[in-house]
Parts: sequence; C-alpha cells; structure tokens
Amino acid sequence: MENNKVLGVNGLKKNYGAIQALKGISFDVPKGSVYGILGPNGSGKTTLLGIVLDVLKSNGGSFEWIGYAQAQDARKQIGALLETPNFYHYLNAIDNLKIVAEIKQIKNPDINGVLERVSLAERKHSKFQTYSLGMKQRLAIASALLSNPDIIVFDEPTNGLDPEGIAEIRNLIKELSSEGRTIIMASHLLDEVEKVCTHVAIMKKGVLLREGSVHTILKDEPTYELKADNMAALKDCLNTRSTLNSIIEEDGLLIVSFTEKVTATAINKFCFEHNVILTHLKENNYSLEKTFLELIK
Ligand code: ATP
Repeated sequence: MENNKVLGVNGLKKNYGAIQALKGISFDVPKGSVYGILGPNGSGKTTLLGIVLDVLKSNGGSFEWIGYAQAQDARKQIGALLETPNFYHYLNAIDNLKIVAEIKQIKNPDINGVLERVSLAERKHSKFQTYSLGMKQRLAIASALLSNPDIIVFDEPTNGLDPEGIAEIRNLIKELSSEGRTIIMASHLLDEVEKVCTHVAIMKKGVLLREGSVHTILKDEPTYELKADNMAALKDCLNTRSTLNSIIEEDGLLIVSFTEKVTATAINKFCFEHNVILTHLKENNYSLEKTFLELIK
C-alpha cells in the first residue's frame, strides 16, 4: 500500500432525499499520482469531489487532506475545477485572472506565467468571448493554477472538447503531473483514464467497485475476495504483504489485488501462516475494460 498519501477518504456517504448518491466510499490518493475517478453518468463522481472540496456536506464518513495542519490550508492549496468559472466575456485573459486572484486573495499571482503554462500567452489580450471552448477550458485551468497548487482536482476536464482540444488538455495534465503535482480527476471515459491516469477508482451507483494502479488493473491481475471470522486480523495480515496493491471492503468481504502474480493457494498459505483462517477465497479475473464494460451495461 502507498503510505505517502495526500487524501484519505473513509466511508463517505451522501443522500439527496431518497437518492443514495454515495454509499460508503473509501480510498487513498497517493502523492504524485494522477488519480482517475471513473464511472458512468450519475455514479456519484461529482458528488464525491464536491464533498472533498467542501462544497457539499456528507451524510457520513470522513475525509482528510494529509500534510496540511488545517483543513482551511488544504482548501487554499488545492486548485479545483468543478465547473468552468464564470469569466467575464468582454474582458481578456489577464483581466479575468486578475479578478480571480483578487477573489481568492492570492498575493503576487504569476498571471503571465500561468497563461504561458496553458499556452494562452499569445491570446492573453483577446476577449474571453473570442476564445474556442478548448481555450476557455485552458483559461479555467490557468485560474486553478494561480495559487501554484500541489494538488489539482478536475471534474471531466475534456467534456465537450474536440479531439484537438482533448489532446491539449490531456497533455497539460501529464505535464502538471510531471512537475510533481497530484491530480485527481473524474471521468466517464475509460480511454481517458487509461491514457492519463496512474491510478483509478471505478464507481457505479455510489459504490466503489475497484481501485488500484491503472498499470496493475490493466495487466489483468486478478482480484481476490477474502473473508475470515476475524476480519481485522485478516486486514492486518494482508497489509504486511509488501506487494499488496489495493484493499477494499465490500459486502462483508475484502477485495484485494497484488502487484505480483499470486495464486489462491499462496494467499491461503500466507494467511494461515499469519494465524488467519479464511472462510471465503475467490479469484475474480477482471480487466479494467471488462469491469468497465460490465458497469456501463
Ligand atoms: P455526471 O457525470 O452525470 O455528473 P456523476 O458520476 O458526477 O455523474 P453525480 O452528479 O454525483 O454523478 O450524481 C450522483 C447521483 O446523485 C445521481 O443519481 C444524481 O441524479 C444525484 N444528484 C446529484 N446532485 C443532486 C442534487 N442536487 N439533487 C438531487 N439529486 C442529485
């Protein structure tokens, strides 16, 4: 398991009246990852991001941004893009960003720097209303970069863009990641998550189906369903295995995956040697694609 996490989400729940949008979601976001939250429309991605950004209140569970003394510091340090900000159509990029910096109380914002960063320097004197959709989206990203954040949160960053615009945004996300920033992004596109993300959490109707590194999930490594009379001991024992990739609790089972090739026999033996007797052990051979296709059916 990754110890170096920037965000821990623990059993988050959210109801809108009778609709259960989140039914107890738990995962950790490793530092420096591009963490994709993948799921079809309505699976709860936006709700989840809204809660960790303190725009929405949860009905249960908790979350923690690690490495910030106060929740307020975390919020200030996170660049978030939940929806395109309301830029002024008749103002240019520089003036729009000046207003954002003022609202966010950012001292000495590097407006030219962030415009350069999103390749808008040449058009910085043009009015917002003359921008293409892709440029508008890049200006929105520039506004999220004004505070030079270590963590950036995007909700469907390429929605509505043409192929060229999509490629630009994906490259930008990769560059921001290569600078050491952690990116958390929601997407309903498997292809996007495969191309851009290092980690993925797959959601369906408010439930987390699978979670782990994209590399491992794509390598077709199976997951295992495990159960023991003493679930806490089982969890502790699995956590001592250095090749543990992900561990999720679902319907009274632990769903685990490993970064190594491992057999059911080896898992059974490992648990037994740690004084844990399994009462259930089942291999699920799902690839990310298979899982996702099943979920959008
Ligand atoms: P999309 O990509 O379509 O936004 P999503 O995965 O982000 O989907 P959410 O927008 O979080 O999903 O919605 C999760 C569920 O909660 C859906 O069933 C949605 O209809 C419902 N929902 C979201 N916001 C509200 C709201 N303000 N009032 C009532 N129901 C809501």
